[in-house]
Amino acid sequence: MTFEILDHDLHGRIGRIYTRHGVVETPALAPVINPLKSPFPLEYFEKYFKVDLVITNAYIIWRNYGWKALEKGGIHGLLGISRPIMTDSGAYQILEYGYIDVDPDFIVNYQKLIGSDIGVILDIPSGVRETKYSVKWSVKETIRREVRASLLYMEEDKERMLLVAPIQGGVNLDLIRISARSAARLNFDIYALGSPTQIMENYDFETLVDMMAVARANIPISKPMHLFGAGHPIMLSLAVALGYDLFDSASYILYARNERYILPEGTLRVSEIRREFPCECPVCSSIDIETFNNLPKEERISKIAQHNLYIILREIRLIREAIREGTLMRLLELRSKAHPYLYRALVKLRKYVKLLERSDPITKPSIHGIFIFDVNSTYVNPKIVRYREWIKKRFFSERPYALLLPAPKIRPYHSDKKVREIIRILKNGGVYPRNVDVLFYSKIFYLVPLELCEMYPLSQFEEGFIKIEGENLMEIIKYIIKFIKKRSYKRVVILQSEDWPLKFFKELERRGVMIVTREDIKRIYQYMT
Ligand SMILES: [Zn+2]
Repeated sequence: MTFEILDHDLHGRIGRIYTRHGVVETPALAPVINPLKSPFPLEYFEKYFKVDLVITNAYIIWRNYGWKALEKGGIHGLLGISRPIMTDSGAYQILEYGYIDVDPDFIVNYQKLIGSDIGVILDIPSGVRETKYSVKWSVKETIRREVRASLLYMEEDKERMLLVAPIQGGVNLDLIRISARSAARLNFDIYALGSPTQIMENYDFETLVDMMAVARANIPISKPMHLFGAGHPIMLSLAVALGYDLFDSASYILYARNERYILPEGTLRVSEIRREFPCECPVCSSIDIETFNNLPKEERISKIAQHNLYIILREIRLIREAIREGTLMRLLELRSKAHPYLYRALVKLRKYVKLLERSDPITKPSIHGIFIFDVNSTYVNPKIVRYREWIKKRFFSERPYALLLPAPKIRPYHSDKKVREIIRILKNGGVYPRNVDVLFYSKIFYLVPLELCEMYPLSQFEEGFIKIEGENLMEIIKYIIKFIKKRSYKRVVILQSEDWPLKFFKELERRGVMIVTREDIKRIYQYMT
Protein backbone atom coordinates (compact mmCIF):
# COMPACT_ATOMS: atom_id res chain seq x y z
CA MET A 1 0.00 0.00 0.00
CA THR A 2 1.35 3.42 -0.89
CA PHE A 3 -1.53 5.53 0.40
CA GLU A 4 -3.61 5.21 3.53
CA ILE A 5 -6.59 7.38 4.52
CA LEU A 6 -6.87 8.07 8.25
CA ASP A 7 -9.63 10.65 8.51
CA HIS A 8 -11.92 12.69 6.31
CA ASP A 9 -14.25 15.65 6.12
CA LEU A 10 -16.10 16.59 2.93
CA HIS A 11 -13.90 14.94 0.25
CA GLY A 12 -10.80 16.13 2.12
CA ARG A 13 -8.68 13.44 3.71
CA ILE A 14 -5.88 13.06 6.21
CA GLY A 15 -3.66 10.49 4.60
CA ARG A 16 -0.20 8.99 4.50
CA ILE A 17 1.86 8.41 1.40
CA TYR A 18 4.62 5.87 1.96
CA THR A 19 7.81 6.59 0.01
CA ARG A 20 11.29 5.15 0.20
CA HIS A 21 12.55 8.15 2.18
CA GLY A 22 9.70 8.25 4.64
CA VAL A 23 6.05 9.04 5.12
CA VAL A 24 4.33 12.15 3.76
CA GLU A 25 1.30 13.20 5.73
CA THR A 26 -1.40 14.68 3.49
CA PRO A 27 -2.78 17.16 2.65
CA ALA A 28 0.77 18.29 2.01
CA LEU A 29 2.37 21.11 0.12
CA ALA A 30 5.74 20.49 -1.48
CA PRO A 31 7.71 23.72 -1.90
CA VAL A 32 9.34 23.96 -5.32
CA ILE A 33 13.13 23.98 -5.06
CA ASN A 34 15.42 25.25 -7.76
CA PRO A 35 18.88 24.16 -6.56
CA LEU A 36 20.50 26.83 -8.75
CA LYS A 37 18.66 29.81 -7.33
CA SER A 38 17.00 29.21 -3.99
CA PRO A 39 16.26 32.44 -2.09
CA PHE A 40 17.52 30.84 1.13
CA PRO A 41 19.75 27.86 2.05
CA LEU A 42 18.22 24.49 1.11
CA GLU A 43 18.84 23.12 4.61
CA TYR A 44 16.08 25.45 5.88
CA PHE A 45 13.41 23.21 4.36
CA GLU A 46 14.11 20.47 6.88
CA LYS A 47 15.60 22.52 9.68
CA TYR A 48 13.03 25.32 10.00
CA PHE A 49 10.08 24.55 7.75
CA LYS A 50 10.03 20.84 8.64
CA VAL A 51 8.33 19.93 5.37
CA ASP A 52 7.52 16.29 4.62
CA LEU A 53 8.09 16.72 0.91
CA VAL A 54 9.84 19.04 -1.52
CA ILE A 55 9.65 19.07 -5.30
CA THR A 56 12.32 19.89 -7.82
CA ASN A 57 12.53 19.72 -11.57
CA ALA A 58 14.28 16.67 -13.03
CA TYR A 59 14.65 18.39 -16.39
CA ILE A 60 16.57 21.30 -14.82
CA ILE A 61 18.72 18.83 -12.86
CA TRP A 62 19.49 16.92 -16.07
CA ARG A 63 20.34 20.09 -18.02
CA ASN A 64 22.68 21.39 -15.32
CA TYR A 65 24.17 18.28 -13.71
CA GLY A 66 23.53 15.43 -16.16
CA TRP A 67 25.07 12.19 -14.89
CA LYS A 68 27.11 14.14 -12.32
CA ALA A 69 23.93 14.16 -10.20
CA LEU A 70 24.60 10.47 -9.54
CA GLU A 71 28.15 11.17 -8.34
CA LYS A 72 26.76 13.73 -5.92
CA GLY A 73 24.60 11.06 -4.28
CA GLY A 74 21.54 11.44 -6.44
CA ILE A 75 18.85 13.99 -5.84
CA HIS A 76 19.04 13.70 -2.04
CA GLY A 77 22.80 14.24 -2.01
CA LEU A 78 22.56 17.08 -4.49
CA LEU A 79 19.96 18.99 -2.49
CA GLY A 80 21.27 17.89 0.92
CA ILE A 81 17.78 16.80 1.92
CA SER A 82 17.00 13.48 3.60
CA ARG A 83 13.18 13.66 3.47
CA PRO A 84 11.08 12.52 0.47
CA ILE A 85 11.69 14.39 -2.78
CA MET A 86 9.28 14.60 -5.68
CA THR A 87 10.56 15.44 -9.15
CA ASP A 88 8.66 17.03 -11.97
CA SER A 89 9.56 16.08 -15.50
CA GLY A 90 9.71 19.35 -17.39
CA ALA A 91 6.10 19.61 -18.52
CA TYR A 92 5.96 23.10 -17.05
CA GLN A 93 8.86 24.09 -19.30
CA ILE A 94 6.88 22.78 -22.29
CA LEU A 95 4.05 25.07 -21.24
CA GLU A 96 6.50 27.99 -20.96
CA TYR A 97 8.70 27.40 -24.03
CA GLY A 98 6.55 25.09 -26.16
CA TYR A 99 9.19 22.37 -26.39
CA ILE A 100 11.95 20.62 -24.44
CA ASP A 101 14.75 18.52 -25.85
CA VAL A 102 14.37 15.37 -23.80
CA ASP A 103 12.84 11.97 -24.47
CA PRO A 104 9.78 11.12 -22.30
CA ASP A 105 11.02 7.60 -21.47
CA PHE A 106 14.47 8.90 -20.68
CA ILE A 107 13.33 11.56 -18.21
CA VAL A 108 11.24 9.05 -16.20
CA ASN A 109 14.22 6.72 -16.07
CA TYR A 110 16.49 9.59 -15.04
CA GLN A 111 14.14 10.46 -12.14
CA LYS A 112 14.33 6.84 -11.06
CA LEU A 113 18.14 6.71 -11.28
CA ILE A 114 18.73 9.88 -9.28
CA GLY A 115 16.58 8.40 -6.51
CA SER A 116 13.43 10.49 -6.70
CA ASP A 117 10.70 9.28 -4.33
CA ILE A 118 7.82 10.49 -6.45
CA GLY A 119 8.37 10.92 -10.18
CA VAL A 120 6.10 12.42 -12.80
CA ILE A 121 5.81 11.23 -16.37
CA LEU A 122 6.52 13.81 -19.05
CA ASP A 123 3.02 14.76 -20.12
CA ILE A 124 2.01 17.38 -22.67
CA PRO A 125 0.28 20.20 -20.82
CA SER A 126 -2.84 21.64 -22.42
CA GLY A 127 -2.63 25.40 -22.53
CA VAL A 128 -5.78 27.27 -21.66
CA ARG A 129 -5.84 29.30 -24.86
CA GLU A 130 -5.16 26.38 -27.18
CA THR A 131 -7.69 25.13 -29.73
CA LYS A 132 -9.68 22.07 -28.82
CA TYR A 133 -7.94 20.19 -31.61
CA SER A 134 -4.51 20.72 -30.09
CA VAL A 135 -5.77 19.98 -26.57
CA LYS A 136 -7.17 16.70 -27.92
CA TRP A 137 -3.74 15.88 -29.27
CA SER A 138 -2.08 16.67 -25.92
CA VAL A 139 -4.55 14.38 -24.12
CA LYS A 140 -3.94 11.58 -26.62
CA GLU A 141 -0.18 11.91 -26.46
CA THR A 142 -0.24 12.07 -22.64
CA ILE A 143 -2.28 8.84 -22.54
CA ARG A 144 0.18 7.16 -24.91
CA ARG A 145 3.09 8.14 -22.68
CA GLU A 146 1.23 6.96 -19.59
CA VAL A 147 0.64 3.54 -21.11
CA ARG A 148 4.37 3.29 -21.90
CA ALA A 149 5.44 4.48 -18.46
CA SER A 150 3.09 2.05 -16.74
CA LEU A 151 4.66 -0.82 -18.70
CA LEU A 152 8.25 0.32 -18.18
CA TYR A 153 8.34 1.62 -14.62
CA MET A 154 5.50 0.27 -12.49
CA GLU A 155 7.43 -2.79 -11.25
CA GLU A 156 6.21 -4.86 -8.34
CA ASP A 157 8.93 -3.44 -6.14
CA LYS A 158 8.16 -1.99 -2.74
CA GLU A 159 11.20 0.25 -2.91
CA ARG A 160 10.43 1.74 -6.28
CA MET A 161 9.78 5.37 -7.13
CA LEU A 162 6.07 6.24 -6.96
CA LEU A 163 4.75 7.45 -10.28
CA VAL A 164 2.37 10.33 -10.95
CA ALA A 165 0.06 10.38 -13.97
CA PRO A 166 -1.05 13.88 -14.93
CA ILE A 167 -4.55 14.49 -16.26
CA GLN A 168 -4.84 16.92 -19.15
CA GLY A 169 -7.66 18.51 -21.10
CA GLY A 170 -7.33 22.22 -20.37
CA VAL A 171 -10.74 23.69 -19.62
CA ASN A 172 -12.55 21.01 -21.69
CA LEU A 173 -14.36 18.89 -19.14
CA ASP A 174 -15.09 16.12 -21.65
CA LEU A 175 -11.38 15.78 -22.40
CA ILE A 176 -10.45 15.88 -18.70
CA ARG A 177 -12.91 13.02 -18.19
CA ILE A 178 -11.36 10.96 -20.99
CA SER A 179 -7.84 11.70 -19.76
CA ALA A 180 -8.71 10.78 -16.15
CA ARG A 181 -10.52 7.57 -17.05
CA SER A 182 -7.72 6.33 -19.29
CA ALA A 183 -5.11 7.08 -16.64
CA ALA A 184 -7.22 5.50 -13.88
CA ARG A 185 -7.19 2.17 -15.71
CA LEU A 186 -3.38 2.08 -15.53
CA ASN A 187 -3.32 1.99 -11.72
CA PHE A 188 -0.71 4.70 -11.11
CA ASP A 189 0.29 5.56 -7.54
CA ILE A 190 -0.77 9.19 -7.68
CA TYR A 191 -2.82 11.27 -10.13
CA ALA A 192 -2.46 14.96 -10.84
CA LEU A 193 -4.50 17.67 -12.48
CA GLY A 194 -2.12 19.32 -14.91
CA SER A 195 -1.74 22.90 -16.02
CA PRO A 196 -4.44 24.84 -14.16
CA THR A 197 -1.82 27.55 -13.50
CA GLN A 198 -3.21 30.01 -16.05
CA ILE A 199 -6.73 29.53 -14.69
CA MET A 200 -5.49 30.27 -11.18
CA GLU A 201 -3.54 33.31 -12.29
CA ASN A 202 -6.81 34.71 -13.68
CA TYR A 203 -8.62 33.89 -10.41
CA ASP A 204 -11.09 31.84 -12.46
CA PHE A 205 -11.91 29.62 -9.49
CA GLU A 206 -15.31 28.62 -10.88
CA THR A 207 -13.68 26.97 -13.90
CA LEU A 208 -11.08 25.49 -11.58
CA VAL A 209 -13.84 23.87 -9.49
CA ASP A 210 -15.26 22.24 -12.64
CA MET A 211 -11.84 20.99 -13.71
CA MET A 212 -10.90 19.71 -10.26
CA ALA A 213 -14.26 18.03 -9.68
CA VAL A 214 -14.41 16.24 -13.04
CA ALA A 215 -10.84 14.97 -12.72
CA ARG A 216 -11.35 13.85 -9.12
CA ALA A 217 -14.68 12.13 -9.81
CA ASN A 218 -13.03 9.89 -12.40
CA ILE A 219 -10.13 8.74 -10.22
CA PRO A 220 -10.67 6.10 -7.49
CA ILE A 221 -11.04 7.45 -3.93
CA SER A 222 -8.16 5.26 -2.78
CA LYS A 223 -5.67 7.19 -4.93
CA PRO A 224 -4.02 10.43 -3.82
CA MET A 225 -4.58 13.42 -6.05
CA HIS A 226 -2.13 16.23 -6.77
CA LEU A 227 -2.93 19.73 -8.01
CA PHE A 228 -0.08 21.30 -9.96
CA GLY A 229 0.91 24.87 -9.27
CA ALA A 230 -1.58 25.67 -6.49
CA GLY A 231 0.16 27.53 -3.75
CA HIS A 232 -1.88 30.45 -2.54
CA PRO A 233 -3.45 29.76 0.85
CA ILE A 234 -6.80 31.32 -0.11
CA MET A 235 -7.70 28.41 -2.40
CA LEU A 236 -6.07 25.40 -0.74
CA SER A 237 -9.10 24.50 1.40
CA LEU A 238 -11.29 24.52 -1.72
CA ALA A 239 -9.02 22.02 -3.46
CA VAL A 240 -8.74 19.85 -0.35
CA ALA A 241 -12.54 19.81 0.03
CA LEU A 242 -12.76 18.42 -3.51
CA GLY A 243 -10.39 15.56 -2.68
CA TYR A 244 -6.94 16.93 -3.52
CA ASP A 245 -4.16 15.70 -1.26
CA LEU A 246 -0.92 17.09 -2.65
CA PHE A 247 0.19 20.49 -3.84
CA ASP A 248 3.40 21.93 -5.14
CA SER A 249 4.12 25.53 -5.46
CA ALA A 250 6.74 28.02 -6.38
CA SER A 251 4.37 30.79 -5.31
CA TYR A 252 6.37 31.59 -2.17
CA ILE A 253 9.33 32.53 -4.41
CA LEU A 254 7.39 34.00 -7.34
CA TYR A 255 5.41 36.31 -5.04
CA ALA A 256 8.55 37.24 -3.10
CA ARG A 257 10.38 38.26 -6.28
CA ASN A 258 7.65 40.83 -6.87
CA GLU A 259 7.87 41.81 -3.19
CA ARG A 260 4.40 40.43 -2.55
CA TYR A 261 3.61 39.29 0.94
CA ILE A 262 1.21 36.34 1.23
CA LEU A 263 -1.44 36.24 3.95
CA PRO A 264 -4.05 33.52 4.56
CA GLU A 265 -6.76 35.81 3.20
CA GLY A 266 -4.91 37.57 0.40
CA THR A 267 -1.72 39.29 -0.67
CA LEU A 268 -0.10 42.62 0.20
CA ARG A 269 2.60 44.56 -1.57
CA VAL A 270 5.47 44.96 0.86
CA SER A 271 5.70 48.62 -0.13
CA GLU A 272 2.14 49.05 1.21
CA ILE A 273 3.10 47.83 4.67
CA ARG A 274 3.80 51.08 6.48
CA ARG A 275 4.47 50.37 10.12
CA GLU A 276 4.48 46.71 11.04
CA PHE A 277 4.34 43.22 9.60
CA PRO A 278 0.89 41.75 10.30
CA CYS A 279 2.42 38.37 11.07
CA GLU A 280 4.22 36.60 13.90
CA CYS A 281 6.22 34.03 11.91
CA PRO A 282 9.92 33.68 12.89
CA VAL A 283 10.95 36.05 10.08
CA CYS A 284 8.45 38.85 10.68
CA SER A 285 8.79 38.76 14.44
CA SER A 286 12.57 39.19 14.26
CA ILE A 287 12.73 42.34 12.14
CA ASP A 288 11.00 45.71 12.05
CA ILE A 289 9.84 47.27 8.81
CA GLU A 290 12.46 50.03 8.81
CA THR A 291 15.39 47.62 9.13
CA PHE A 292 13.74 45.43 6.50
CA ASN A 293 13.39 48.30 4.02
CA ASN A 294 17.10 49.07 4.33
CA LEU A 295 18.18 45.53 3.43
CA PRO A 296 19.62 44.79 -0.03
CA LYS A 297 16.98 43.56 -2.47
CA GLU A 298 18.16 39.91 -2.47
CA GLU A 299 17.89 39.73 1.31
CA ARG A 300 14.43 41.26 1.26
CA ILE A 301 13.31 38.67 -1.28
CA SER A 302 14.79 35.90 0.86
CA LYS A 303 12.91 37.10 3.93
CA ILE A 304 9.58 37.51 2.10
CA ALA A 305 9.98 34.06 0.52
CA GLN A 306 10.49 32.54 3.96
CA HIS A 307 7.51 34.41 5.39
CA ASN A 308 5.36 33.33 2.42
CA LEU A 309 6.30 29.71 2.92
CA TYR A 310 5.54 29.86 6.65
CA ILE A 311 2.05 31.19 5.86
CA ILE A 312 1.34 28.57 3.19
CA LEU A 313 2.48 25.72 5.42
CA ARG A 314 0.47 27.07 8.33
CA GLU A 315 -2.64 26.99 6.14
CA ILE A 316 -1.97 23.33 5.32
CA ARG A 317 -1.74 22.54 9.05
CA LEU A 318 -4.95 24.49 9.67
CA ILE A 319 -6.69 22.48 6.93
CA ARG A 320 -5.48 19.18 8.39
CA GLU A 321 -6.77 20.16 11.82
CA ALA A 322 -10.12 21.24 10.32
CA ILE A 323 -10.48 17.80 8.71
CA ARG A 324 -9.80 16.11 12.05
CA GLU A 325 -12.36 18.31 13.79
CA GLY A 326 -14.94 18.10 11.01
CA THR A 327 -14.91 21.86 10.39
CA LEU A 328 -13.48 22.01 6.87
CA MET A 329 -16.68 23.57 5.51
CA ARG A 330 -16.33 26.37 8.06
CA LEU A 331 -12.76 27.11 6.96
CA LEU A 332 -13.80 26.89 3.32
CA GLU A 333 -16.56 29.47 3.81
CA LEU A 334 -14.20 31.74 5.72
CA ARG A 335 -11.60 31.63 2.93
CA SER A 336 -14.28 32.05 0.25
CA LYS A 337 -14.79 35.60 1.51
CA ALA A 338 -11.19 36.45 0.55
CA HIS A 339 -12.24 37.16 -3.03
CA PRO A 340 -15.61 37.43 -4.81
CA TYR A 341 -14.51 34.83 -7.38
CA LEU A 342 -13.72 32.40 -4.59
CA TYR A 343 -17.20 32.92 -3.23
CA ARG A 344 -18.59 32.12 -6.68
CA ALA A 345 -16.52 28.94 -6.62
CA LEU A 346 -18.02 28.02 -3.26
CA VAL A 347 -21.53 28.49 -4.63
CA LYS A 348 -20.53 26.36 -7.62
CA LEU A 349 -19.85 23.46 -5.26
CA ARG A 350 -23.62 22.96 -5.17
CA LYS A 351 -23.18 21.13 -8.45
CA TYR A 352 -20.71 18.73 -6.82
CA VAL A 353 -22.26 18.00 -3.43
CA LYS A 354 -22.28 14.27 -4.21
CA LEU A 355 -18.53 14.42 -4.81
CA LEU A 356 -17.97 16.35 -1.58
CA GLU A 357 -19.42 13.50 0.43
CA ARG A 358 -17.76 10.72 -1.55
CA SER A 359 -14.97 10.13 0.99
CA ASP A 360 -17.44 10.52 3.80
CA PRO A 361 -20.17 7.89 3.35
CA ILE A 362 -21.51 8.26 6.88
CA THR A 363 -21.83 11.71 8.34
CA LYS A 364 -19.20 12.09 11.00
CA PRO A 365 -21.01 13.64 13.95
CA SER A 366 -18.84 16.53 14.93
CA ILE A 367 -18.57 18.16 18.32
CA HIS A 368 -18.85 21.39 16.36
CA GLY A 369 -22.18 22.57 15.03
CA ILE A 370 -22.68 23.65 11.46
CA PHE A 371 -22.34 27.34 10.64
CA ILE A 372 -24.90 28.49 8.09
CA PHE A 373 -24.10 31.99 6.89
CA ASP A 374 -26.64 32.39 4.11
CA VAL A 375 -28.80 30.39 1.76
CA ASN A 376 -25.78 29.25 -0.27
CA SER A 377 -24.37 27.46 2.78
CA THR A 378 -27.47 25.29 2.80
CA TYR A 379 -26.86 24.13 -0.77
CA VAL A 380 -23.19 23.26 -0.52
CA ASN A 381 -23.02 21.69 2.92
CA PRO A 382 -23.30 17.94 2.31
CA LYS A 383 -24.48 17.36 5.88
CA ILE A 384 -27.59 19.42 5.12
CA VAL A 385 -28.13 18.18 1.57
CA ARG A 386 -27.73 14.58 2.65
CA TYR A 387 -30.25 15.00 5.47
CA ARG A 388 -32.85 16.44 3.06
CA GLU A 389 -32.45 13.54 0.65
CA TRP A 390 -32.47 10.99 3.41
CA ILE A 391 -35.67 12.23 5.07
CA LYS A 392 -37.47 12.56 1.73
CA LYS A 393 -36.69 8.95 0.85
CA ARG A 394 -36.50 7.19 4.19
CA PHE A 395 -38.94 8.79 6.61
CA PHE A 396 -41.57 6.15 7.18
CA SER A 397 -44.94 6.65 8.82
CA GLU A 398 -48.46 5.29 8.45
CA ARG A 399 -50.22 8.14 10.20
CA PRO A 400 -53.03 9.56 8.05
CA TYR A 401 -52.53 13.25 8.90
CA ALA A 402 -49.63 15.67 8.92
CA LEU A 403 -49.25 18.96 10.75
CA LEU A 404 -46.50 21.30 9.54
CA LEU A 405 -45.26 23.84 12.10
CA PRO A 406 -42.71 26.59 11.55
CA ALA A 407 -39.30 25.58 12.95
CA PRO A 408 -38.91 27.60 16.16
CA LYS A 409 -35.74 29.44 17.16
CA ILE A 410 -35.35 27.22 20.26
CA ARG A 411 -33.58 23.90 19.76
CA PRO A 412 -34.29 21.06 19.93
CA TYR A 413 -37.60 22.16 18.45
CA HIS A 414 -39.72 20.06 20.80
CA SER A 415 -38.49 22.07 23.78
CA ASP A 416 -40.08 25.28 22.46
CA LYS A 417 -42.99 26.45 24.67
CA LYS A 418 -45.44 27.01 21.81
CA VAL A 419 -44.61 23.63 20.29
CA ARG A 420 -45.19 21.91 23.63
CA GLU A 421 -48.55 23.66 23.92
CA ILE A 422 -49.61 22.42 20.45
CA ILE A 423 -48.53 18.86 21.29
CA ARG A 424 -50.60 19.07 24.49
CA ILE A 425 -53.66 20.17 22.48
CA LEU A 426 -53.14 17.30 20.00
CA LYS A 427 -52.77 14.80 22.84
CA ASN A 428 -55.88 16.06 24.62
CA GLY A 429 -57.76 15.82 21.34
CA GLY A 430 -56.72 12.16 21.15
CA VAL A 431 -54.93 12.47 17.78
CA TYR A 432 -51.28 12.46 18.84
CA PRO A 433 -49.18 10.34 18.55
CA ARG A 434 -51.57 7.89 16.83
CA ASN A 435 -53.00 9.95 13.96
CA VAL A 436 -50.67 12.75 13.09
CA ASP A 437 -47.10 13.34 11.94
CA VAL A 438 -45.81 16.58 13.38
CA LEU A 439 -43.15 18.07 11.11
CA PHE A 440 -41.30 21.38 11.24
CA TYR A 441 -40.78 23.32 8.04
CA SER A 442 -37.35 24.91 7.95
CA LYS A 443 -35.44 27.11 5.52
CA ILE A 444 -32.38 24.98 6.15
CA PHE A 445 -33.54 21.37 6.47
CA TYR A 446 -36.93 21.80 4.71
CA LEU A 447 -38.79 19.22 6.86
CA VAL A 448 -37.89 17.91 10.30
CA PRO A 449 -40.07 15.24 11.96
CA LEU A 450 -40.70 15.98 15.64
CA GLU A 451 -39.27 12.61 16.67
CA LEU A 452 -35.95 13.31 14.94
CA CYS A 453 -35.31 16.89 15.95
CA GLU A 454 -32.45 15.99 18.30
CA MET A 455 -30.58 14.09 15.59
CA TYR A 456 -27.27 15.59 14.35
CA PRO A 457 -27.15 18.22 12.85
CA LEU A 458 -30.81 19.24 13.28
CA SER A 459 -30.16 20.93 16.60
CA GLN A 460 -26.44 21.58 16.22
CA PHE A 461 -26.22 24.58 13.93
CA GLU A 462 -25.98 28.34 14.04
CA GLU A 463 -27.65 30.38 11.34
CA GLY A 464 -26.83 33.80 9.97
CA PHE A 465 -29.22 35.43 7.57
CA ILE A 466 -31.26 33.10 5.41
CA LYS A 467 -33.59 34.73 2.96
CA ILE A 468 -35.76 32.48 0.86
CA GLU A 469 -37.26 33.82 -2.34
CA GLY A 470 -37.71 33.09 -6.05
CA GLU A 471 -36.17 29.82 -7.19
CA ASN A 472 -35.09 28.87 -3.69
CA LEU A 473 -38.63 29.20 -2.40
CA MET A 474 -39.97 27.10 -5.27
CA GLU A 475 -37.42 24.41 -4.45
CA ILE A 476 -38.73 24.11 -0.88
CA ILE A 477 -42.35 24.07 -2.08
CA LYS A 478 -41.60 21.30 -4.59
CA TYR A 479 -39.73 19.36 -1.92
CA ILE A 480 -42.64 19.53 0.53
CA ILE A 481 -45.20 18.56 -2.13
CA LYS A 482 -43.09 15.56 -3.16
CA PHE A 483 -42.74 14.51 0.45
CA ILE A 484 -46.50 14.73 1.02
CA LYS A 485 -47.43 12.88 -2.18
CA LYS A 486 -45.15 9.97 -1.37
CA ARG A 487 -46.93 9.40 1.93
CA SER A 488 -50.58 9.68 0.79
CA TYR A 489 -51.86 11.64 3.78
CA LYS A 490 -55.62 12.17 4.11
CA ARG A 491 -54.95 15.77 5.03
CA VAL A 492 -51.95 18.03 5.52
CA VAL A 493 -52.34 21.14 7.64
CA ILE A 494 -49.78 23.94 7.83
CA LEU A 495 -49.57 26.60 10.51
CA GLN A 496 -48.86 29.94 8.87
CA SER A 497 -45.86 31.98 10.00
CA GLU A 498 -44.94 35.62 9.44
CA ASP A 499 -41.31 34.67 8.87
CA TRP A 500 -42.18 33.06 5.56
CA PRO A 501 -43.42 34.79 2.39
CA LEU A 502 -47.17 34.59 1.74
CA LYS A 503 -46.42 32.99 -1.61
CA PHE A 504 -45.13 29.90 0.18
CA PHE A 505 -48.50 29.25 1.81
CA LYS A 506 -50.53 30.22 -1.27
CA GLU A 507 -48.58 27.75 -3.42
CA LEU A 508 -49.04 24.96 -0.89
CA GLU A 509 -52.75 25.76 -0.56
CA ARG A 510 -53.10 25.56 -4.34
CA ARG A 511 -51.73 22.02 -4.10
CA GLY A 512 -54.23 20.94 -1.45
CA VAL A 513 -52.51 21.83 1.82
CA MET A 514 -54.82 23.37 4.43
CA ILE A 515 -53.63 26.66 5.93
CA VAL A 516 -54.36 27.46 9.59
CA THR A 517 -53.39 30.41 11.76
CA ARG A 518 -52.55 30.76 15.46
CA GLU A 519 -56.26 31.31 16.23
CA ASP A 520 -57.13 27.87 14.84
CA ILE A 521 -54.63 26.09 17.10
CA LYS A 522 -57.01 25.50 20.01
CA ARG A 523 -59.15 23.19 17.90
CA ILE A 524 -56.44 21.93 15.57
CA TYR A 525 -57.21 18.27 16.46
CA GLN A 526 -60.58 18.64 14.69
CA TYR A 527 -58.78 18.52 11.35
CA MET A 528 -56.95 15.32 12.25
CA THR A 529 -59.81 12.85 12.45
ZN1 LIG B 1 5.66 36.42 8.59
